[in-house]
Amino acid sequence: MDLHRQLLFVLLLQLVTALAWAEPRVSVDQSQINLTEFRIGYHIDPSRTLTFEEVRTLPFNETGNRTSLGTDARVAWYKLILDNTSDVDQQLFVHLPHAYHLRSVDIYEERDGALVRSELLDLDQIADTDVMYRGTVVYPFTLPAEQSTTLYLRSFSYSHQWFAVEILDEYASRHGLVSINTDIALMVGMLLALVFYNGLLYFATSKKENIFYSLYLISGLVWIALSYGLIASVFDVYGDTIFKLNMSLFTMPIFLLLFMMAIFETKSYYPTEHRFLQGLIALLSGTLIWGFFDISAALKPASSLAAMMMVVTLSVGVSLHRKGHPLVKYFLLGHSFFVLFNGIAVLFYKGLIPPSYLSSHGVGIGIVLEALTLAFVISHRIKLLEDIRASQEELKKQAATDPLTRLYNRRFFFAEANYLLELAKGADTPVSVMILDIDHFKRVNDDYGHGCGDQVLTKLAQTLKEQSRSEDLIARFGGEEFVILLPGADLLEASRCAERIRIAVQALKMTAGVNETVQITVSLGIAEFDMEQESVESALTRADQALYHAKNDGRNRIYHAEPAVITTADLLAEGKSG
Ligand code: GH3
Ligand code: MG
Ligand code: MG
Repeated sequence: MDLHRQLLFVLLLQLVTALAWAEPRVSVDQSQINLTEFRIGYHIDPSRTLTFEEVRTLPFNETGNRTSLGTDARVAWYKLILDNTSDVDQQLFVHLPHAYHLRSVDIYEERDGALVRSELLDLDQIADTDVMYRGTVVYPFTLPAEQSTTLYLRSFSYSHQWFAVEILDEYASRHGLVSINTDIALMVGMLLALVFYNGLLYFATSKKENIFYSLYLISGLVWIALSYGLIASVFDVYGDTIFKLNMSLFTMPIFLLLFMMAIFETKSYYPTEHRFLQGLIALLSGTLIWGFFDISAALKPASSLAAMMMVVTLSVGVSLHRKGHPLVKYFLLGHSFFVLFNGIAVLFYKGLIPPSYLSSHGVGIGIVLEALTLAFVISHRIKLLEDIRASQEELKKQAATDPLTRLYNRRFFFAEANYLLELAKGADTPVSVMILDIDHFKRVNDDYGHGCGDQVLTKLAQTLKEQSRSEDLIARFGGEEFVILLPGADLLEASRCAERIRIAVQALKMTAGVNETVQITVSLGIAEFDMEQESVESALTRADQALYHAKNDGRNRIYHAEPAVITTADLLAEGKSG
């Protein structure tokens, strides 16, 4: 019997204790007061119409002093019982550090069942009040000695109900207000630097992915500055005025998708993935337009849409990676950061995980990490494009040159010679051309072998380069025949150049086998262009005729061509074209 009584008593005691705990209370004693971790009561009001008198009679659930209740709790009441156990009155401050993102917040102070004081704050008219400091509501109140005070806080949010309350003394209150937002300013600063860098890149490369990336960054930094209170803190603006800036939450993924399409060239190379991205952009654009009319409503599915967007972008990324796109792995890495940290944030905004620095700053951290990786993707792409350009240049060069002597070939010579001739006509300067052929080259091949002949050709090419001016156009026309176009040179100057070449070639001594030296001579024909009407082909024919005479007259000599003769056919052609 006694045992039963004892058991009953213990059970009753536990019940009473449990009931007492159901109403979270915060005890305040004499020491310094800096209450940043405690339990409070909350009551969601879906009707949004409950008054203070009504709500104080209703039951409250328990949560932490930093909490997230999701999108279905646009209006929530919080209840906090403070017991001053000391024998002095306490001058304290209620801090609401997330108040900047609310539509309105009301504070009711109740003692002994009676309303002592209340403060109703409409964030659209916040300029009229003196309780908002850089985004934090600071409400001063007195806690009389050895008495209890109950605070009721009504928070009306635009979309997600995330809330924080702290109870501080004057010293802690001042400290709490000094260094807010440093971390957010740092994030925004980094993104801003990347925006400028990309703007400069766009001017250098004209690639539209730089524009999309910049716009993505701008959307990201606007959203970070807005939702973490930097805009409120710096510009002291709240309510409807800046709430529309939440549109950046839709423009950010739109620009990220456009960036993906541009940098991976999905339209040309990955049509299936391209269509998925297009579909998602259409969906996001629809929500964006909805947001223009009712941003609060449009934001409601935002976190689900974000989750969907992460699934699509990740799948497309993986698919492109499997198809071998070289840049996608970096994108996937950056995007994984984004997905990971945003995933945590989405869970927090939906009220599924408790708040922490990471969960409440997840979007910001994710954006910054992804932005840095994407900057790397952009730089890496510039390198890839540079490599492609360099190999194209190399191919072009190969197509224009002769592999043995590295001189220009016949095809390139004609294209370039015509261009140089036009330039000279404009500048009214003379142009000459010379043809050069090795004397008895067949003998070199016959006596010392074809390999030795090739060596002679290479050596001759080098001599031609050394003995001509940098502006001269030297080409191997075929076999052992070379042509040089001399812009700005008349017949006299071209002759001097030809003589230099003839002497230098004659002096060349090339070794063949043991102790044997090969020496060669060349014959040259020169023609100065008739700048009035002569073509490259015509001047070359005249120079070739001069060469023929040089060969016939004993070789190792330079002959001038006959002056250009203008035929009736030429004149007729001239008349037609002119
Ligand atoms: P000429 O003084 O009349 O010019 O006498 P030649 O022996 O030089 O006569 P021709 O110009 O007809 O002979 C050209 C020779 O050049 C024929 C060919 O064997 C040689 N040849 C042409 N191309 C090459 C080459 O790429 N390498 C080598 N080793 N020989 C070549
Ligand atoms: Mg020859
Ligand atoms: Mg020949």
